[in-house]
Amino acid sequence: MATGRTGWMKKIINDLKKSIDKNRPPNTINIMEVCGTHTMAISRSGLRQLLPDELNLISGPGCPVCVTSNRDIDHIIGIIRDYPVTLFTFGDMIRVPGTDSSLQLEKSRGKDVRICYSPMDAFDYAKKNPDREVVFIAIGFETTAPLTAVLIKRAYGEDLKNFHIFNTHKLVPPALELLLLDKEINIDAFLCPGHVSAIIGSIPYQFIADKYNIPCVISGFEPVDILESLDMILGQYNKGRASVQIQYDRVVKPEGNPTAAALIEEVFEPADSFWRGIGNLPLTGLKLRDRYMRFDAAVLFPVKTIDSKEPPGCKCGDVLKGILKPFECRLFARACTPENPVGPCMVSSEGSCAAYYKYERTKI
Ligand code: SF4
Repeated sequence: MATGRTGWMKKIINDLKKSIDKNRPPNTINIMEVCGTHTMAISRSGLRQLLPDELNLISGPGCPVCVTSNRDIDHIIGIIRDYPVTLFTFGDMIRVPGTDSSLQLEKSRGKDVRICYSPMDAFDYAKKNPDREVVFIAIGFETTAPLTAVLIKRAYGEDLKNFHIFNTHKLVPPALELLLLDKEINIDAFLCPGHVSAIIGSIPYQFIADKYNIPCVISGFEPVDILESLDMILGQYNKGRASVQIQYDRVVKPEGNPTAAALIEEVFEPADSFWRGIGNLPLTGLKLRDRYMRFDAAVLFPVKTIDSKEPPGCKCGDVLKGILKPFECRLFARACTPENPVGPCMVSSEGSCAAYYKYERTKI
């Protein structure tokens, strides 16, 4: 008899199967996981193959590298081409193709592009090299925005003139509402992101349950966390009710992290934001408040207008909205592989296409 965690997982899977009406057609309960770390965990653990056929797990726009728009990538490439700056970026971003180049290509042409593991690397470099203009690509959701805010406040306090951010920070809850309003997408429940929710708490999702009657469960990242979360979702779904529950309660509190949230509020304000393959979504991003605007690299380093284009044939936009599964893109595992990625969803370690390629290709 299976014991411990394995036994617990088997029990939850059996409970899930028992709780679903057997007359339902396959793939008719659509549950979107909004976080790239969840997508990877689901693919890596093989959960999809263990779940009842009626459950359809859809990957959403939760990978920060993947949702960064092509026009932002093109602007960053324009900066490194046109200005003598040192650019710091997280690793995955360097390989994302822009319209006619990538940061990796520009680096190979001699531009000063450096991979960092923390924004502090960029900040420290700027302090030690006051004659060099330094730009850090600030990507991510509410999880990473507080650290960016800390650095901006420090740069302001220390009157550091050569540190700048190219800001692409985005917000999760308003983006979820826009997905619900999109008639092409059919979402029955959200598996909400654990890391983002550690900052914002559960309250910002309440409108999804109240206004749209869509269950939300904030989940941890272990396979057993995800299974428990799905069980909680079905508990709501089967009763026709919707609420916001926290499965990941060892980390996430309803009120979130007020200190981190206050930092975001102090340094940033909500603004429209361009999302890869989706377009300009109202009030789904963050922009620096006027007081800190001098740190904004996009303003300080304008580039000539670029007619940004998605890579031909790439369906990242539809993949990010959950309309298509990665293997439904004609380029998947053919022209587009992790070694030769066409779009960011295949580049990023949290991208849906990379997850399916690495862990689920043989099962499709
Ligand atoms: Fe884009 Fe490649 Fe994914 Fe197709 S498989 S959507 S080309 S990243």
